[in-house]
Amino acid sequence: MANDKHWYPAYVGLGSNLCGPGRQLEITFEQLDAIPDTRLIRQSSLYRSAPFGGIEQPDFVNAAAALLTRLSAHDLLRELQRLERQRGRERGGHKWGPRILDLDLLVYSQQKIAAADLCVPHPGIGERNFVLLPLREIAPALWIPGLGPIANIETSSNDPQISRIE
Ligand code: ATP
Ligand code: CA
Ligand code: CA
Repeated sequence: MANDKHWYPAYVGLGSNLCGPGRQLEITFEQLDAIPDTRLIRQSSLYRSAPFGGIEQPDFVNAAAALLTRLSAHDLLRELQRLERQRGRERGGHKWGPRILDLDLLVYSQQKIAAADLCVPHPGIGERNFVLLPLREIAPALWIPGLGPIANIETSSNDPQISRIE
């Protein structure tokens, strides 16, 4: 549901480590552009990183997308969860376990949201390089509410190795 006539900038983090992750994310960029009242504005390079959270599983491919949307943050989250479900993502699996598609709402306009089902800005921005680096690539001048300029956020040195896929 469009909340009013405004278009809001929103940033989404994409991740996959199953079923051809790079291809999964390429398809997802197109599907983000097809969300009602929403346009894909920029997409980052794909980044490969070792899995996080101590579970034996394939490497992850991560990326970020910049959207303009007329949906509220909650309505956009529901659309992202619909895309995850469409791709066969089973909820209730192990947190940080293997998945075909993970979509996180990283930033929504300049809003700070701390609801039971939605925390924005997403805490991963300040904690994980595979969230921070793709986002910084597409939005180098972004101000993250609560954290400040994205350019000033330090990468974490004890995170898994991450590399840009050419
Ligand atoms: P993490 O959130 O630490 O990256 P995850 O992506 O593995 O872990 P999920 O299992 O995908 O976690 O999501 C768990 C719940 O997180 C979802 O049901 C959703 O309601 C909630 N959630 C809170 N904030 C957000 C957000 N900004 N984007 C997406 N989901 C969020
Ligand atoms: Ca996530
Ligand atoms: Ca998620």
